[in-house]
Amino acid sequence: MTMYWNKKAECMGREEMRRLQSERLVKMVEHVYNDSTYYRKRMDECGVKPQDIRSIDDISKLPFTTKQDLRDNYPFGLFCVPMEQIVRLHASSGTTGKPIVAGYTKEDLEMWSEVTARSLMAAGVTKEDIMQVSYGYGLFTGGLGAHDGGTLIGASIVPTSSGNTEKQITLMHDFGSTVLACTPSYALYIADTIKKSGLDIKDFKLKTGVFGAEPWTDSMRHEIEEKLNIKAYDIYGLTEMCGPGVGCECEYQNGTHLWEDHFYPEIIDPETLQPLPPGEKGELVFTNLTKWGMPMIRYRTRDLTTLHYETCECGRTAVRMSKILGRSDDMLIIRGVNVFPSTIESIILEFPECEPYYMIEVDRVNNTDTFDIQVEVHPEYYTDRITELSALKKRITARVQSVVGISPNIKIVEPNTIERSMGKAKHAIDHRKFE
Ligand code: ADP
Ligand code: ZN
Repeated sequence: MTMYWNKKAECMGREEMRRLQSERLVKMVEHVYNDSTYYRKRMDECGVKPQDIRSIDDISKLPFTTKQDLRDNYPFGLFCVPMEQIVRLHASSGTTGKPIVAGYTKEDLEMWSEVTARSLMAAGVTKEDIMQVSYGYGLFTGGLGAHDGGTLIGASIVPTSSGNTEKQITLMHDFGSTVLACTPSYALYIADTIKKSGLDIKDFKLKTGVFGAEPWTDSMRHEIEEKLNIKAYDIYGLTEMCGPGVGCECEYQNGTHLWEDHFYPEIIDPETLQPLPPGEKGELVFTNLTKWGMPMIRYRTRDLTTLHYETCECGRTAVRMSKILGRSDDMLIIRGVNVFPSTIESIILEFPECEPYYMIEVDRVNNTDTFDIQVEVHPEYYTDRITELSALKKRITARVQSVVGISPNIKIVEPNTIERSMGKAKHAIDHRKFE
């Protein structure tokens, strides 16, 4: 049976949703115009006044906000309330440069807990559950975000944070944790560590995983589900909106439901910046409708995806987002071809000989891009029989060539060579300099 944390909001009719979004946008635009020198300047530059925004349809009149704007105004330049109203500060992990800072009012933290509670419950988490939060606690939003959402539901939270994997596993076993919340890469690492330590996964009570904070593929999902004997759900979020809990999959796993009464999503063409119709692939843009401390107006996430507005089998009307294909700035352009690490991941996982760890390395030698992929095979396959490994290398090369269109140099590395990640995994290193 489908459970909802907030059925009214999650299953609201589309007309009513548009009305609510319109009301909230009007109020938000007044707030940012009146209370932030940054947004007032931006809006004045575009010749938009708060009175021009009467409904959600007017949103395209507003200027975009980018990560660069956040960096240029580091640390507090986009805050829209006096510091005395800010009760929490977080910062993004800075995977792509200088960290960006987010400030929350008390009300903002309540909103964040509410959306995370919706997300966790969509994945089936209830107050009966013992939820181990193995996202990092600290400036990263993952730990405290999942913690507060789970607490609101009433689940028993085990705040282990990430790291200390052996101890995590002991606690998971002894406490009988039923839910694991962490990055998919860390879930995999935990699974492998359990196996290595000779424990039987059947002696654990885990049934659900809520994994996010980085892109992962369906093949990776199956791998984790099998190893941990659980059902794995995709949870999505970003520091600029609040953190994890912006959306999550339901039991039908037919896309990630976004809580659009709080975060208004648009899909734009990243080149022309024009909004695209539902179903078309482009860059996801979000507007905070209910966050007062540091609201983001038309924030360009760089995440590439599609949006679907048909009501889901679970009864939720909340828009569904397809899996994130990558960030538009994560994308590697190698010999003129767009390459997403997620594509490479899917290919590698097609080979039963391979481990789900890989590293793409790109460089430029004599004006030509090099394209190396380090791949790990299971220890049992890692034999000295060169012929077998070179046959495998050839098959992977051919497969990448046929899917991506360019030929990689596959390097089969010894088991356990590629760094295991306890947070967000890094899948590509680009040594090229573009000046
Ligand atoms: P940073 O921008 O430094 O990586 P965040 O922690 O705010 O810091 O990361 C947010 C980004 O992480 C999202 O914009 C998206 O690219 C990625 N992300 C988060 N959750 C998911 C998910 N479930 N699937 C794919 N990507 C995700
Ligand atoms: Zn659903």
